[in-house]
Order: sequence, then structure tokens, then C-alpha cells
Amino acid sequence: MIGDQYLCELHLHLDGSLPAETIKYLAEQEDISLDSLIASENKTEPMSTEILKPYLSVSADCRDLNEYLTKFQIPLKLLQTEDAIYDAVKAVGHAEEELGVDYVELRFAPQLHLEKGLSQRQVIEAAADSAVYFNADHSTKIRLILCCMRGAENHEANLETVRLAAEFMHEKHDEYADSAYKKVFVPSAKGRTLPVIAGIDLAGAEALYPTENFADLFLLARELDIPFTIHAGEAAGPDSIWTALNFGARRIGHGIAAIQDDKLMRYLADNDIIVECCPTSNLNTRAVDSITEHPVREFLKHGIKVTISSDNTTVSNTNILHEFELLEDAGLTAGEKDQLIKNATDGWL
Ligand SMILES: [Zn+2]
Repeated sequence: MIGDQYLCELHLHLDGSLPAETIKYLAEQEDISLDSLIASENKTEPMSTEILKPYLSVSADCRDLNEYLTKFQIPLKLLQTEDAIYDAVKAVGHAEEELGVDYVELRFAPQLHLEKGLSQRQVIEAAADSAVYFNADHSTKIRLILCCMRGAENHEANLETVRLAAEFMHEKHDEYADSAYKKVFVPSAKGRTLPVIAGIDLAGAEALYPTENFADLFLLARELDIPFTIHAGEAAGPDSIWTALNFGARRIGHGIAAIQDDKLMRYLADNDIIVECCPTSNLNTRAVDSITEHPVREFLKHGIKVTISSDNTTVSNTNILHEFELLEDAGLTAGEKDQLIKNATDGWL
């Protein structure tokens, strides 16, 4: 809670948000030497979270998206077994609970966890089981968003992700009618019980693989009644956001390029589109130059339902409370903060 409001985090990636202690734990469990994963000059010292940190988190002067993306290598190497995925979801749940987050939509791309022979279905099952068991015992509730990935060679894998989302959200949902799968009861859930899989997303290199290339994924998602958000307007311009909206996206990840297009700003406001802003991440990848130039307050002034999330707590060295502090230091008012928090509660997939 934050004051008397529910605190919801809508845009959080599993692989970029694993605490360093969890990374160490997973490496031990899987008998993977962290020394072998990093180019450490300190191989005589026992591996500590301090030595690990620069390999997991960007420096204050992160150069660009490429540097940002290198920080996902170690967590992804470790998240290749069902046990590791199960433990990872739980660990992020605990970290969010400590921050006072009531509800989190945690996202990951099943196709990035197949290196040791898991199927996408097994990956999703491990994450879903973990979220369900976590939810049973904690006031913080986790739901999962399955990411499709921008790319050229992974079309089938993306289609499989969409089909599996449908299966977990609808058919499996029924099959497990009396089981925990049906019982993601969320505070302020407006009387609804919700499937643990919340919907799908499109993530990855937006500048290299334009949103328009992925039309059939979202056509299928609409046919199968899967809600979705799309990363758009982060590394590409307003056209990418228009394309995502034309696909039927209810939410836009980042969306900061909307500030360049007045008509788009009006459309977002008039249609109650939720925009998931992640300020520190945008600074890290140089999508914006300074926090005062971040468009989040401008979005609010235009009546857009903008929300705040941390994107990758570990990679960006941040968390949702820190994101609000950063904006408050740049002039965010108490009323604006209340609105951002309320928008997130209204914005679940
Ligand atoms: Zn993201």
C-alpha cells in the first residue's frame, strides 16, 4: 500500500529483476560457476554480491540499450530449469512484497528459457505454479505476462507463446476450475477472480524489428481473446505506437515517443489506453536525456492514463518507490503521484 491506495506494478521483467542473492543461490543450486559467466579478475576471492553487481546492473553512465541488454546474460543463463524459474518468480514476489507492492504483473519470454531442453509449456507451468503458490500465502499478488520477442527467426516460437497463453488463460483455467489456477484473488479485484496468466506482450529490439512485422501474432491474440500490451515508442517513434494500437493493444509499454504526436496524445487519452512508463530504464537506454525531460507529467496533463513501473529492478538499480522519488525530485506533485498510482490499479491486463 502507499497511503490508502493499492500499489500496482504493471511493467516488470523477471530476468532483469532477480536480486543478486537469488542469482548466487540459483548458481549454487544448478552447480554453475559464476566465475565462468563473468570475466572476473577476482577469481581468488569468493564470489560475493558486490563482485557480481556490475555484471547485473548498469553503471550510472550506462551508454545505451546495448550495454543495458548485456546485463540479462547471467540471469538468463541461470533461468533454464523449472526449479530456477519457480524460485525466481518467488524471489521477485518477495522483493515486491518488501516494497509494499500489492499487485505485480511480472513478464518473461518463455522462448528464452529453452536452452536446457524445457518446452515453452514447462517454462510457463513452472512460473505459473510459483505465482499461484506465492499468491496463496502472501498479500502481494503476482500475475504473469508472456512476452513474444521481436526477431526474424522466431515466428513459430511467438505463435506458440500466444497459443499457450490462450490455453492457460481459458482452457487450463477451466480444467483447473477448483484449483489454485482459478484463484488469483487480488486486492481491489472488483470482485473478480483472474487467471494467473494475465496476457501477452511484445518485447525486444524495437528499432531493428518494427512493430508492424508482428501483425499476425496480435490477430491471433484477438481471435483467442488474449489481452495484450506491446513495448512501443521506446526505441522507435509514434508510428510504432499507432501500429500497436491498431493491433488492439490495451496498454503500451514505455510509449514515450507519443509526446511527438499531438493526435496520438489525444487518442491515448480519449481511449483510456494505459501507458507503462519506466523512467530510470528510459534514462539508462538514453531514450530520454534527463528526468526533467521525461514526458510522464506531460502525459498526465493531457489526461493520459500513464503509470509508473521499474522495468528491471536489478538491471536499472531501482524499484517502484525509487521511481516515484525520482519523479518527485523532478517536481511531481502529490496529486500527480496519486493519479499515477490510481491509473495502475485501473490498468491490469
Ligand atoms: Zn520492458
